[in-house]
Amino acid sequence: MRGIKTCHLKVDRVNPEKDAIARAGMVLRRGGLVAFPTETVYGLGAAATNTRAVARIFEVKGRPPDNPLIVHISSRSQLKAVVKDITVEAELLMNDFWPGPLTIILPAAPVVPDIVTGGLTTVAVRMPDHPVALALIKAAGVPVAAPSANLSGQPSPTQAAHVLQDFDGRIDAILDGGPAGIGVESTVLDLTTQAPTVLRPGGITLEELGSCLGGVNINITDGAAKHTHYAPHAPLYLVTGSGPAVASKIRRLAEAEKRNGRRVGILTYVDSEDFSSAGKVVFAGYKGSPETVAAGLYAALRSFNELAVDIILVEGLEEKGIGLTVMNRLKKAADGRLIQV
Ligand code: AMP
Ligand code: MG
Repeated sequence: MRGIKTCHLKVDRVNPEKDAIARAGMVLRRGGLVAFPTETVYGLGAAATNTRAVARIFEVKGRPPDNPLIVHISSRSQLKAVVKDITVEAELLMNDFWPGPLTIILPAAPVVPDIVTGGLTTVAVRMPDHPVALALIKAAGVPVAAPSANLSGQPSPTQAAHVLQDFDGRIDAILDGGPAGIGVESTVLDLTTQAPTVLRPGGITLEELGSCLGGVNINITDGAAKHTHYAPHAPLYLVTGSGPAVASKIRRLAEAEKRNGRRVGILTYVDSEDFSSAGKVVFAGYKGSPETVAAGLYAALRSFNELAVDIILVEGLEEKGIGLTVMNRLKKAADGRLIQV
């Protein structure tokens, strides 16, 4: 479905051109939708105070209305407008991690429309660490509600081309600032519960949160589990374990699938074993450097849609640091298809 012309605005990542930013800011002020790069993934933004504009985000994404959006701000003074009060823990976290990939949940101010919060009394807020995102929010003059710029259920976009795959002709503009940096979404931390609760692991690791909050106990739940999939079209099997058993399991599974006439895709790492005889191989960075895997993960998952494979086998990573976030996304993409050796 292509109804409108999506204005493609190329911008410099570090010093975004002022006219492009001004134009995109105007689109937001007039109730339009603008996709923009952040340091995590590309977001799909609307003026957070414009109920109709925010409703369009849900419409084009096919997002369930009870899945709330993150409000993006460019300054601390904007925070005061969207939340009711700011806790001591919030201050500590913002000092350490903003601008950056940490979303905090606080009691919502009355000005935040229900459609943004999914009807909750709390609101999720973050300040992105990306010159294009910050300039856009400033130009819009209002906080910007923005989920990831992908069709609901698809892997998040880390390049402008991914956004256009899903939304060309359906959104008003895209600021194309090149690839997003970290490659996985922000960490979502609820500060309205008795102990701070991680609802989604992300770009800020549990280790980093722990050292910022000192002795404070941090809970972890999977609050987003019912909504998010990050999944390519073919079923994905996540193989975990340690040592060479993982690779031999992947080879045996691949052989069995091929005997049944199925085309096998394998998601692996540059520094892993050679799986080229077992199936169509896609690399997501180096497993010895989980940051590189995070940066390449979603592009790798999306590329399987073009490779026309019937099944995808993935080698798991150690659940440490950003590796925990990568494994969280892979488990969701696997939707229960976990194989432990
Ligand atoms: P997305 O913007 O698509 O990356 O997703 C935003 C994430 O933040 C989702 O997992 C939401 O469920 C979560 N979220 C946003 N607002 C709230 C809130 N007020 N309470 C709990 N979770 C929230
Ligand atoms: Mg998303």
